[in-house]
Amino acid sequence: MQLDGQVAVIGVGSVGSMALWRTALRSRDVVGFEAAHSASDRTAVGGDTRLFRRAYQEGAKYSGLLAESERLFLELNDSGGTAFIPCGGLSIGARGGSYMSALGVSIRETAAEHSVLEHDELGARYPQHQLLPNDFGIFDPHAGAIRTDQAVLTAVELAKQAGAVVKSHTRIRSVVSHRDHVEISSESERWHFASVVIAGGAWSSDLLPERVRLGVYAARLSLSWFLARDAADYLPERFPIFIRESGGVHIYGAPTVDGATVKVSGMTPHTRIEDPDQLVRDLSDVENMAAIDAVSRFLPGLHPAPVRADSYPELYSPDDAPLVGWVDEMPGVYVATGFSGRGFKIAPGVGETIAREILGGAPSPELAFLSPQRALSP
Ligand SMILES: Cc1cc2nc3c(=O)[nH]c(=O)nc-3n(C[C@H](O)[C@H](O)[C@H](O)COP(=O)(O)OP(=O)(O)OC[C@H]3O[C@@H](n4cnc5c(N)ncnc54)[C@H](O)[C@@H]3O)c2cc1C
Repeated sequence: MQLDGQVAVIGVGSVGSMALWRTALRSRDVVGFEAAHSASDRTAVGGDTRLFRRAYQEGAKYSGLLAESERLFLELNDSGGTAFIPCGGLSIGARGGSYMSALGVSIRETAAEHSVLEHDELGARYPQHQLLPNDFGIFDPHAGAIRTDQAVLTAVELAKQAGAVVKSHTRIRSVVSHRDHVEISSESERWHFASVVIAGGAWSSDLLPERVRLGVYAARLSLSWFLARDAADYLPERFPIFIRESGGVHIYGAPTVDGATVKVSGMTPHTRIEDPDQLVRDLSDVENMAAIDAVSRFLPGLHPAPVRADSYPELYSPDDAPLVGWVDEMPGVYVATGFSGRGFKIAPGVGETIAREILGGAPSPELAFLSPQRALSP
């Protein structure tokens, strides 16, 4: 069998772009297949920014991927553009509350660099946040905002410079494992590769083996932007990314990247969808009212009326941990999907893991918890 290349990456989005970049540095025969174009705002790349942090509530098991990702985001910055805005990050909440308690445990386990800001100091340093009496803060100096489109497009550029080819507007319809290679097909063409990475985000289900497909589901997440009364107060040097659980409300946000509006979201949970291509972009009245209420209560420097709102698709796993690794049912096929609303911050580290493992490296034992071979009952 004449192969068309060593590695195919299906989906050149948040994670696929990083896999393509890191793999292309080690192998010249790498091809990315992208149904739309990289950094399309109809994918999980959309919405300007994602939060990155090292002091991470989800715990120590992610700390290696986060450290690697921070290094690689900074490497993307060195290649031009600003993929990563290192503005630091604030967690805000009540002492004894579930979020701040879990974060404290994780910080102790990982020895993540941080400083504690008691109520008055937090209020003095970051007056943009209207605090409740029990609120205090934890500042993570390694946190920041990832400019998603810049990160993806820079990674694709670096992959191409290293010899990778990207076939845009090419949706892969089937993936079939043979004894010594993997065959992939679009509507009209067929290719053969030694190994294939499935990184199709919310659209991955159709390509996954049944056992995995039955455990995952596509979902819709929404974002809202608010006009700042004085945008200078919300620039990255004055307004770190933040996550807050106060008074029964969960919100997070990022500094302004357009010099006018501030992204504030997280007030309503993700909702399950059947088809990511039919995703409803508009926010419902309930979603808009939750956003308006949270901004009125907690961020008085913003006009409490969303001037922009949109929704994006994501694939969730049953335990909210991503699926990263080989799938036994499909020899030669490596899955990197199901990032469950948290994947951008680890995308470069996952890309590096994929490159290492797909080109012959042994699976990392510390990432066994991400294996698609784990129990995935819905
Ligand atoms: C609103 C929102 C807020 C979030 N906030 C954060 C945050 O603050 N921090 C954080 O770390 N994470 C966050 N996340 C999660 C993070 O954005 C996602 O986990 C991550 O972007 C998922 O990347 P992906 O590569 O799996 O999917 P995508 O980036 O969607 O990429 C999938 C790509 O595959 C392509 N594709 C699909 N099927 C095929 C096919 N058959 N053939 C060819 N191409 C195909 C698609 O066109 C797309 O380009 C958030 C997600 C959302 C939606």
